[in-house]
Amino acid sequence: MENTERKALGIMGGTFDPIHYGHLVTAEVVRSEFNLEKVYFVPSGNPPHKDPVKVTDSQHRYLMTILAITTNKYFEASSIEVDRIGKSYTYDTVKYFKENYPEYDIYFITGADAIKEILTWHRVEELLDLCYFVAATRPGYDLEDLKKKELKVLPKAYLERITIIEVPAMAISSTGIRKRVREGKPIKYLLPEAVEHYIYKKGLYIGK
Ligand code: ATP
Ligand code: MG
Repeated sequence: MENTERKALGIMGGTFDPIHYGHLVTAEVVRSEFNLEKVYFVPSGNPPHKDPVKVTDSQHRYLMTILAITTNKYFEASSIEVDRIGKSYTYDTVKYFKENYPEYDIYFITGADAIKEILTWHRVEELLDLCYFVAATRPGYDLEDLKKKELKVLPKAYLERITIIEVPAMAISSTGIRKRVREGKPIKYLLPEAVEHYIYKKGLYIGK
């Protein structure tokens, strides 16, 4: 259970292709709710060559993450997954933070859609031994369904380590932003201005 005596930090993992206000609002809401000293944004590394889903090079995604967090003193970017060769497991990332910040409780922040995948994650039980999970609901998500069906299969002790939190409705997704760029539609106010400018400067998401 949450221990108010202990210091806590958050980890927000994602592809961040690109990072947007949905990610930033969620991290900020969770930070203030759980009194987190810092939230580390951890962009995923480049997928293996054979990966059928085209993801923008990790250097671009990492730089956009840095640009996005400059105005929040509690936010940091970590290149831990970007620096690794091959696929990174959330377990390894959380373990890295746990080892480097042993006096901190760790809260792994995800969207409610992503928490479903937790059930299929690599070393999920060990992962739940290492950290708490905060699943933020995004629009159109059936909260009750998540609690009753998807998470029910987890042992009770693990369920207690997962909190579901409602964040102000944000229908923003990276997929939607990439599509808008491709179609020549504005993306202003969906993500930080510096990230918007970076996307245009580097010609990202055009013809993709
Ligand atoms: P894509 O559309 O490419 O899947 P995405 O917008 O879902 O991108 P990701 O990088 O996949 O972004 O997401 C990283 C994390 O942020 C995931 O845990 C995801 O559930 C969460 N997330 C994404 N968009 C939102 C949003 N609008 N509100 C709350 N959480 C979000
Ligand atoms: Mg996603």
